[in-house]
Amino acid sequence: MNSGVGLQADGQSRERANRYSVTMGTLLALMLAGSLPDQAQLSRMIARFAPVELKVDLAGLSSGDRQALVKLIEASRIYDELYMRQLWSGNPALYAKLQQDTTPLGKTRLHCFWINKAPWSELDAHTAFLSGVPAKKPLGANFYPEDMTREQFEGWVKTLSAADRNKAEGFFTVIRRDSGKLTIIPYSREYGAELRRCADLLREAAKLTGNESLRRFLNSRADAFLSDDYYASDVAWMDLDAPIDVTIGPYETYTDELFGYKAAFEAYVSLRDEKETARLKYFADHLQDVENNLPIEPLYRNPKLGSLAPIRVVNEIFASGDGAHSVRSAAYNLPNDERVVKEKGSKRVMMKNIQEAKFRANLIPIAARVLAKSAQADLSFESFFTHIVAHEMSHGIGPHQIRVGGRDTTVRQELKELYSAIEEAKADVTGLFMLGYMADHGLKEAALAERPLYTTFLASTFRSVRFGIHEAHGRGMAMQLNYYLDHGAFHANADGTFTVDIPKMKAAVTSLTRELLTIEAHGDYAAARKMLETLAVLRPPVEAALKRLEDIPTDIEPIYTTADTLTHARKHPWAD
Ligand code: ZN
Repeated sequence: MNSGVGLQADGQSRERANRYSVTMGTLLALMLAGSLPDQAQLSRMIARFAPVELKVDLAGLSSGDRQALVKLIEASRIYDELYMRQLWSGNPALYAKLQQDTTPLGKTRLHCFWINKAPWSELDAHTAFLSGVPAKKPLGANFYPEDMTREQFEGWVKTLSAADRNKAEGFFTVIRRDSGKLTIIPYSREYGAELRRCADLLREAAKLTGNESLRRFLNSRADAFLSDDYYASDVAWMDLDAPIDVTIGPYETYTDELFGYKAAFEAYVSLRDEKETARLKYFADHLQDVENNLPIEPLYRNPKLGSLAPIRVVNEIFASGDGAHSVRSAAYNLPNDERVVKEKGSKRVMMKNIQEAKFRANLIPIAARVLAKSAQADLSFESFFTHIVAHEMSHGIGPHQIRVGGRDTTVRQELKELYSAIEEAKADVTGLFMLGYMADHGLKEAALAERPLYTTFLASTFRSVRFGIHEAHGRGMAMQLNYYLDHGAFHANADGTFTVDIPKMKAAVTSLTRELLTIEAHGDYAAARKMLETLAVLRPPVEAALKRLEDIPTDIEPIYTTADTLTHARKHPWAD
């Protein structure tokens, strides 16, 4: 699963899956009034995505890997149009038509279409911005016949053998009508031509690279494209250990809003960040030390932490398909195949340069408005990114398996629908606690100066809450924001800006870490609920500050400079 929620870029949900936008109200109202957006309005919609050039230094790559990289980018490019086809049956013809319109309005429409990979604006609850298309994205996308109802599918599935039912509900088939009757078509047939081209490019890349684990992944994935059996290649992906980090295939099921069964094609081609990889290891090596000193009753500490799920930090060179529309993923957790997860676990990939792009395009302008002038200089990407890493590490510590009333259970089971918001807030604050602990105990490689750390965190709470408090990350962040305000750790100034009180912040981080970890240790649903009900709200000073952020871009639009240069890509028509 993917995510991009800034400071708490994380697994369970992704920024793009939560469809709240600061400017949604106005644009949506405009569209629902029945008039399609004109050029100025389309331009405003596009401006919500700040263009950012992605340049990645390839100096460390062998010449074989450099040539392999070109093949991988070319293979990934196939996925943009493949994904458009998966999204809507009308997309290929519409895309071709839009490309022929070279008027300024035509180019703007094409640009907006390209951002969404569809004629519906994702940030505006998938509302149409072009004429002659359905008012909303079809829930089942192009995975099912557009006229098929949920009940029809369910009734039909009941008549199938167990094996066919698995296929009908599986990741890698589409459902079509054959003289009125529903039938199952495997991806290898439905998308045969594109997948064969893609497989050829992966095999060529496999011949060029000198890295054995990459070669094994590429060859097995090429086989999977033609056989629809992705298991072996998912396993090979878990074992991938190479300077080029590539994820390519049908993965996430968010596009299928009817059942969530069907996997959409996406690709990420990245380079491993060696410096961050070393730092991750440093964190991991000190995790037990932090656990042993968590501010909770000693009996709730875990004397022997299990091994952590692998985390990779990479820099994205190119993304496509389901990985390249609307709000961009800054991290993802894969694979989704439960058989592989059970056997090999899952892997988390964090894209450092995407985080940095979001930091520059979104967080710096937010900070310019919510931080007091004297605090501006303390905003730091180093702090921002290190806290994301600490957040991820913090999910691995604290109570998970617990005993409640003599029963063995888990925090997730006990906190039910409140679990995600509490666990995300816990990872944020325990991440701050961890960094404070490391600084205080001379663990230099992971330690950060306090003022930049807390000030950057303060600014980023606004970035997260801005995405809405109806989703776990935003909800958890609103709760923390109010907790720190109530404890005098954050201070609302008369001019509408905010500042941090460092000593009070340190104390509040420890007390909030204790409160949340204790709720988790007790599996205390009632306490979790009370805390969220009182604190996960928008109070007037915060609401007023959010209002002042409305015109700041919501996200980014990556321009793949390195990838485009390597593959001699043609410029987009709107980029002239
Ligand atoms: Zn998280």
